[in-house]
Amino acid sequence: MNTHDSTADALVLFGASGDLAAKKILPALCALERRHLLPPFVLGVAKSGWSADDFRHHARAALAAHAPEAAEADVTSLLAHLDYVDGDYRDAATFAEVGRRLQGRKAPLFYLAIPPSMFATVVEGLHHGRLDKGGRVVVEKPFGRDLASAQNLNKIVGRVFSERQIYRIDHYLGKEPVQNLLYFRFANGFLEPLWNRNHVRSIEITMAENFGVEDRGAFYDEVGAVRDVVQNHLLQVLAILTMEPPVRYDVDTVRDEKAKVLGAVRPVRPEDLVRGQFEGYHAVAGVAPDSRRETYVALRTQVDSWRWAGVPIFIRAGKLLGVTATEVVVRWNDPPRDLFGEPVRALSNYARFRLGPDRVEIALGARVKENGEAMSGRMIELELDRNASDEETPYERLIGDAVRGDPSLFARQDAVEASWKIVDDILDERLPLYTYKPGTMGPAEALGLTAVYGGWYDPRP
Ligand code: NDP
Repeated sequence: MNTHDSTADALVLFGASGDLAAKKILPALCALERRHLLPPFVLGVAKSGWSADDFRHHARAALAAHAPEAAEADVTSLLAHLDYVDGDYRDAATFAEVGRRLQGRKAPLFYLAIPPSMFATVVEGLHHGRLDKGGRVVVEKPFGRDLASAQNLNKIVGRVFSERQIYRIDHYLGKEPVQNLLYFRFANGFLEPLWNRNHVRSIEITMAENFGVEDRGAFYDEVGAVRDVVQNHLLQVLAILTMEPPVRYDVDTVRDEKAKVLGAVRPVRPEDLVRGQFEGYHAVAGVAPDSRRETYVALRTQVDSWRWAGVPIFIRAGKLLGVTATEVVVRWNDPPRDLFGEPVRALSNYARFRLGPDRVEIALGARVKENGEAMSGRMIELELDRNASDEETPYERLIGDAVRGDPSLFARQDAVEASWKIVDDILDERLPLYTYKPGTMGPAEALGLTAVYGGWYDPRP
């Protein structure tokens, strides 16, 4: 896609000693280096008391642990780019030193892999250190905790950087299957006549995980399923599924259409919501003993547009469910008559998009006749399989895009705020909460949401 800015000539990594840097960012930088796409200068900034050599040592260990496949030549080559500034982000001297190291660089990329409480401090530090001019900034998720805090954060970052300089990362948008969904919708003509309220009966998006919150109990207990995956990842998927065809494939046009459709998604009402918590959640380290945080959510909404009015959209996400899969199912209307005496509800055709994490599939469901005298049949799928193994990781793709100045896979302010508006009324912990058994597909109460539309389509293992 076309780009806005020139290629970055330096990358400054705030949070260089953190967990995300070790697990995702340094491996992505190494992969970019292999493809000669990394800026020539990479500066880590944290307050670990490190020297530049300590940082390189740390980077080598992080790559050994999280990118064991990286070739020694690429690791060595990456390490040769690395430098480090030790200092507190609350201290102006830190930014003065960053400025000295950046002398002569015209287009630095600042990556904020830091606790959200530090976003404003660092953005203001960059401003006071006169480092913002010509630069761009990548902001890690979460972008706010609710609508008001997201608006506030946008205001703070927006005082220093223009929208075109801000890259709000949602690594989900960098995933190959999510890109494939966009491609499939608009590279094929046959879907268009069927992709509207006249033919679609319902849309379902499921993100199921068969694992719990592992060692991130304290983090998760602050967040919950709606903030963790619905407000960002799953609403982005919904936007791609329901947006109008962009008239051109360029950064602004695609982002305009996404923001437009998110603005038309009806805010979820508490009565269209089922919150769940798996049995045993309170025993997880870091979780408050009386926590009412949801580890599962199922909800119903709709897009109030000409194309989608009245079509129910169901979204659910949860931890410790029976399967790990992210899947979209778009069901078309049933045949108008039950000609063969089969239950009509079982007959509907559908498009199914498996978005990972283990495999990527696009399939169309239809009925065919069984051999024999009886006029009865079974569901089959026309399936398009795709090997997801040899992909760029999302971080590699997104950091590469930010380096090149292509913001198309990053969230724009209006889309972020529209997404928060959709979930703002369902963030309240006092809303009803149902427990569910690990290994099931969530609380039984969620069945009520889809019952009249044929129930949930559970992803296969
Ligand atoms: P960590 O707590 O592991 O790392 C925080 C980093 O910020 C450290 O390098 C720390 O330096 C630095 N830091 C914090 N405060 C200061 C300060 N006052 N001055 C200087 N340095 C400071 O966080 P994560 O890496 O886990 O997360 C970073 C961001 O990425 C967060 O926004 C998080 O939400 C997001 N994220 C994280 C994911 C993950 O898997 N970890 C997944 C998706 C998003 P030092 O160690 O020297 O104190």
